[in-house]
Amino acid sequence: MQEKGTISIHTENIFPIIKKFLYSDNEIFLRELVSNAVDATQKIKRLASLGQYNGELGNLQVEVAFDKDAKTITISDNGLGMTADEIKKYINQIAFSGATEFMDKFKEAKDANEIIGRFGLGFYSAFMVADRVEIQTLSYQEGAEPAYWTCDGSTEFEIGKGIRETRGTDIILYVNAESEEFLDKFKLQGILDKYAKFLPVPVKFGTITEQEPDGEDAEGKPKTKSVEVDNIINDTNPIWTKQPSELKDEDYLNFYKELYPFSEDPLFWIHLNVDYPFNLTGVLYFPKVKNDFEISKNKIKLFSRQVFITDEVKDIVPEFLMLLHGVIDSPDIPLNVSRSFLQADSNVKKINSYITRKVADKLSDLFKADRAAYEEKWSDIGLFVKYGMISEEKFYDKAKDFVLLTSTDKTNYTLNEYKEKVSAEQTDKDDQLVYIYTNDPAKQDSFIQSANKKGYDVLLMNSPIDNHFVGQIENKLEKTSFKRVDADVADKLIKKDDAPAHILTEEQSTQVKTIFDSAINKPAYKVELESLNPEELPVTVTMDEFMRRMKEMAAMGGGMGFYGNMPDNYKVVVNGNHKLITRILQTEDAEEASRLAKQAFDLALLSQGLLTGADLTAFVNRSVSMI
Ligand code: ADP
Ligand code: MG
Repeated sequence: MQEKGTISIHTENIFPIIKKFLYSDNEIFLRELVSNAVDATQKIKRLASLGQYNGELGNLQVEVAFDKDAKTITISDNGLGMTADEIKKYINQIAFSGATEFMDKFKEAKDANEIIGRFGLGFYSAFMVADRVEIQTLSYQEGAEPAYWTCDGSTEFEIGKGIRETRGTDIILYVNAESEEFLDKFKLQGILDKYAKFLPVPVKFGTITEQEPDGEDAEGKPKTKSVEVDNIINDTNPIWTKQPSELKDEDYLNFYKELYPFSEDPLFWIHLNVDYPFNLTGVLYFPKVKNDFEISKNKIKLFSRQVFITDEVKDIVPEFLMLLHGVIDSPDIPLNVSRSFLQADSNVKKINSYITRKVADKLSDLFKADRAAYEEKWSDIGLFVKYGMISEEKFYDKAKDFVLLTSTDKTNYTLNEYKEKVSAEQTDKDDQLVYIYTNDPAKQDSFIQSANKKGYDVLLMNSPIDNHFVGQIENKLEKTSFKRVDADVADKLIKKDDAPAHILTEEQSTQVKTIFDSAINKPAYKVELESLNPEELPVTVTMDEFMRRMKEMAAMGGGMGFYGNMPDNYKVVVNGNHKLITRILQTEDAEEASRLAKQAFDLALLSQGLLTGADLTAFVNRSVSMI
């Protein structure tokens, strides 16, 4: 007996809406139907374990097959099946909280995920690609009759006695004209690889072939169809579902290779495993990052009960952890709702801080357990740790104990160790600690050597975010400031009371300044006379720390604003205590004095790579004539 009825939704017709709004994402129909099939197998397993089903479970599995000629895609399972009454209950009565709510919400929905998940329309996503959908099913219940249901995408359906002989369900999609691209082995394989690779029951994928193309087989029976199963596409027990104690390093490394076939081995990993107050498992890997900031984001895959959902984990994983690779699986993340909702979700917030904490703990353990090994990895993880310290207060609080500062001699120090090391030499007269750093050891070599000669240590700060990092720890550490090594001459980098006495009179000083001013004759270079150690260079060119930082910040913000428009301004420090300056003063020939001044200035520029073009040529010619 066939029975006809109307799907009970109160809106006019839901399918045109589904089709229209969900079109861009239409491949997810397969995710939804395969998930339902997997759910059905999990349910029968559960019923068996509860003693409510005593039959054979068999090899629980899902099969996806397509038939290019008949233009069908079939998703089959040997799960719990449905009775006709259950079809009426679960399929015909679309379970959304209210049709009006739906009508209101779908207008804002941006993608198919949003509508489908929010309104429990998984099954109906089939109509994104099908003109007609058919269910053939046999329930596990004793004495159940096979049931059949079909619907052509209108609100009319047909229900009746089906033909399925074994427990389980077939969902048959009669693919519509616009969706024939899905009747392709590689297309379907690709979608299954994306969404079903780690499902908990075997998923087989195959091609349906007609055994007797003329419609009858040798004995005159109607033609039968058989599925040529090509392969099982999934790994039903991915490592994140196992206990860390069951796993060896090799297992983690192999899994990494499976996820990212062409990547270098990761540095280390964290196995996530919580069940309270939210449920989350996963494995996060630390990739090799090095110093390039071309970091591949969106490398973390998000799953919900082993069904792949997305690799856009932006709101679930803290921004600075986006560098990590791996998988997160949580049924507690609302996957199908809008971004703003996600950001406000309390589970998401908890997950966020849980992950941050786990990562910090892992790093802290590594640091404590084997400092040498940790230091070896520092060039890879340093960028990430610093980025975390800049962007997450909570991470800063933990990382301040294991972040490393690297000196130009390659020694690594924790913040506390470094303070200990330099405080005797590098505390200024106002009791401020001054940390000196270089962002370009090759260019700033003469400054570094001068600083070292004074007994100062110079830190290496040449990673892309060190600018920000310096600013951040300067804010956090008490009475500590940072100065780039070329911000001043070594004698003046750290203001102390022990400045060497002037040997020049005021009149002589003015005379020297005049000679240099006219010899240099460039408005961007401002000459100043200082009384430095006679061992220091006669002339040094510096750029003020504050000025430079302001310009750098303006440059990062697009070069706009007051500081962005300022020309580069340098200070030309002339060491009044140097022998050469005395010589210049004693030179009677004004032209010769100017030549010496110019030569000393060019040498200062040269040592910092600032001497180029015509100035460099003039310098070489002058030098030749002088030797
Ligand atoms: P959800 O999966 O979120 O419940 P769906 O629209 O995907 O929503 O499915 C609706 C219901 O139809 C399911 O909850 C289930 O009861 C039933 N169902 C769908 N597919 C199957 C299947 N392959 N086997 C048994 N029951 C199914
Ligand atoms: Mg579903």
